Formats: sequence, structure tokens, C-alpha cells
Amino acid sequence: PVDLLTFGESMVSLRSAGPLAAGGTLNMQVAGAESNVAIGVARLGHTAAWAGAVGPDPHGEFILKQLRGEGVRVHHSVHPDRSTGVMFLEQRTADLSRAFYYRAGSAGATISPGDVAAALDTGARILHLTGITPALSPDARAAVEYAAERAAPDGTVVSLDVNYRGKLWSRDEARAVLRPLVRHATIVIASDDELDLIAPPQAGSGLAGPPADEASAATRLLEAGVREVVVKRGAAGAAVYSADGRLEAPAIAVTCVDTVGAGDAFTAGYLSALLDGEDVAGRLHRGILAGAFAVSTRGDWEGLPRRDELALLDAARGSTQR
Ligand code: ATP
Repeated sequence: PVDLLTFGESMVSLRSAGPLAAGGTLNMQVAGAESNVAIGVARLGHTAAWAGAVGPDPHGEFILKQLRGEGVRVHHSVHPDRSTGVMFLEQRTADLSRAFYYRAGSAGATISPGDVAAALDTGARILHLTGITPALSPDARAAVEYAAERAAPDGTVVSLDVNYRGKLWSRDEARAVLRPLVRHATIVIASDDELDLIAPPQAGSGLAGPPADEASAATRLLEAGVREVVVKRGAAGAAVYSADGRLEAPAIAVTCVDTVGAGDAFTAGYLSALLDGEDVAGRLHRGILAGAFAVSTRGDWEGLPRRDELALLDAARGSTQR
């Protein structure tokens, strides 16, 4: 078995250095929340596998090569007549980026239970799912449900990151699909504004009730059988709710140059520490550390740490190691 298995759509992101409307050079990189997590976990020395579909095009080939180059085991299919998804990532201002997606009907959206079955046969200590994949297509949604149902009874840790994408579906649609997945989830990871998409409704409130209070949403998730509820709060750090109560930690002070991928980096760090048998405090610490690497380097995943680099951020800021 591998340490971590994940699946979903990876695209190429075409990154601008300034406003897209002004044109200029674009930099092509691999983008995808699930592949970001797989790369992050592999960099930290674990075995990670990714399953997905690409088109018969050079940018699809680029994705596969990059993932393999990062040591990720790839289970892929090539869809003969669909393209690999593309996104523009516009650096509109120094601290504001905008994404424009060209992914509707892409090869990646065709992922189905059959595509993930072989990867699941190999077995995994952690199955990492995101709320992006079920938004892609009915087949992709079936793949997530199939994987969660198959993995949970085997004792595999099922981690689920809400990763709400407003360009793919409405909050109501997301809620209707994500809440039923909770019964298979060991660990739920969410931003503070995503908890109401995943937490079971408060008794008496409708499906689209008011945004849930964080602690009560976390409590309802724990009552539903989730072991850990991890809440990401951007520059304010993160918190974990478990049977032992709530543990919070502040973010690490770094110069933020690119916030894209911070959440995936955090997840990779958190799950890496879990694989190492660290306790909740140790998992939270490594997640926050990986998130700090992500925001203080450019790219969705390019700046993620190797294991021997984890202590780098302990050094004084502005220093050069010789
Ligand atoms: P995204 O969707 O952009 O990846 P997210 O909402 O999933 O983001 P965030 O909460 O923004 O995730 O970031 C994840 C973690 O990264 C935070 O919990 C924090 O530890 C770290 N982090 C985020 N922003 C900063 C920052 N400005 N400085 C230091 N650490 C940060």
C-alpha cells in the first residue's frame, strides 16, 4: 500500500506576472488541489499516488511528467477526444490573484469509479478526497462516493478537504453532495467559511440555514463520527477539534508572496505528520509550517519543503545559510 492516495483533476495553469489584459509572458505549471497534496506528501518522504485523466495533448503529458518527476505514482487514463483542462492565473495586484478556468467538459472531469478502482486495489494508509472532484461531473462524483465507501471499512484514514469552488457549483449544491460524504470521513478539513457546507444541519434548521458557528459545526461533525475537524484560518493560523477538545495555533510570520496552494500545503503537512505518528499538536504544527512555505514562495506547490528543509523557517528572516 502507498501512504497516501488521492485523485482528481489536474490542469495546467498559465500564470501571468501582471494584469492579463496587458498580455505578456505566461508561465505554465501544474495545478490541482489533489496533485498539490500528493506532491507535498511525496516531498516529505512518503509514498503518494494520484489518479486522474488527461487529454491526448502535450499539456496533459506535461502534467504526468511533472507528477512523476516529483516522485508521485500516477494512475492515469488518456481520454481520446477531450482536452486537458487549462486555467489562467492572473497576478492582478501584488496580493490578489484571479483564476479563469477552461475546464468544462475536460478530460479530467471524466474520471469515474473504474479509473480509481485499480489505484484502490493497491491500498493506502490515507485516502485524500476533495470537494472539487464531485463538482466536476456525475462520474467524478460517483468516483468519490465509490472510493470513500470502499476505503472506510478497510481502516483507511479518509481525509476530506471541502475546497469549495464557487465557479463549479453553488453552495446549496455543494452542501447536498458533501454532507452525505461525512459518514465516511475520518478527518474533515475546511476553511472557516466552509464549515456550513459540510457540517450536519442543526436540528430544526433547513438545509440552507445560516452559516454555522465554528465550534457548533465542529461538534456536530465529531458527533457524526469524524475524528478530527481541522479549520484553516489563513494568516490567523488553524485549529483542530477532536475528542480531546480544541487546539489552536497561530500562523508563522513570513513574507507572503503568493497565497495560492496554502491550504493544500497545510493539508500535506498535516497528513505527513499523521503518517509519522505525530499527535494532533505535531500535525497542526507541520501543517502550519508547510502553509508558511507555500505562501512565502511562488507557485502552487513549487516551494513546498522537503523533509530536511522543515527547519528552514526557524532561521532569522533575511538570512543566508552558508
Ligand atoms: P487556498 O484555497 O488559497 O489554498 P485555504 O483557505 O485553503 O487557501 P488558508 O487558510 O488560506 O487555506 O491557508 C492554510 C494555512 O496556511 C493556514 O492555516 C496558515 O497556517 C498558512 N497561511 C496562510 N496564509 C498565511 C500567511 N499570510 N502567513 C503565514 N501562513 C499562512
